[in-house]
Amino acid sequence: MTLKIISDSEFPCVSCHTNCCKEYVIFVNAHDIYRLSVGLGLPPDNFLEIYGAKDYSLGIKVKEGLLDLALKQKNGGCTFLEETGDIFRCTVNDFKPGVCKSYPFQMKDGKLTQMDEKMCPVDWDTSNFEAMMTIHLKKDVSEWKYYDELVKEWNAKHWIKKPLSAFLKFMLDRVSLEFVKV
Ligand code: SF4
Ligand code: SF4
Repeated sequence: MTLKIISDSEFPCVSCHTNCCKEYVIFVNAHDIYRLSVGLGLPPDNFLEIYGAKDYSLGIKVKEGLLDLALKQKNGGCTFLEETGDIFRCTVNDFKPGVCKSYPFQMKDGKLTQMDEKMCPVDWDTSNFEAMMTIHLKKDVSEWKYYDELVKEWNAKHWIKKPLSAFLKFMLDRVSLEFVKV
């Protein structure tokens, strides 16, 4: 068997010190949280951080305030980033959030493009990743839409001064039904 050496131009993450995992706060949706929680066997509060809502019409209304949910940070990066020597790696590759899977790509006017402000040290060869990233991005968009609807429903019907833990239970119960359907 011949092993194929993956070059930087084919997959820029090979030579990058995971700038994206250090610089961004990773906001997460119901599907992201469910996959991480079930996959790691951990309750969400183990890896979630709460932030004041960026968009007041879409923040989660709970006793603690109007909130958004993101991954915790540790040592100046994502809590799931691990450093061994000079090598950084994501320790939750199988369950990592949709936004991590599709970065640094976006759909613009129906076309797959790379973000203008991306942190990657070199350009990606978009044509090599078209099929894979288009699937990731479509899935991510639909999961965020689902999450936004869930938050709207919670805020309109269920919240009445309940704590964040009640929202998380409501959200995970609901999203678990989506996984049962699959
Ligand atoms: S910044 Fe770009 S090249 Fe670096 S790890 Fe993130 S996606 Fe990969
Ligand atoms: S979940 Fe993994 S890929 Fe996403 S920011 Fe954290 S370490 Fe990076």
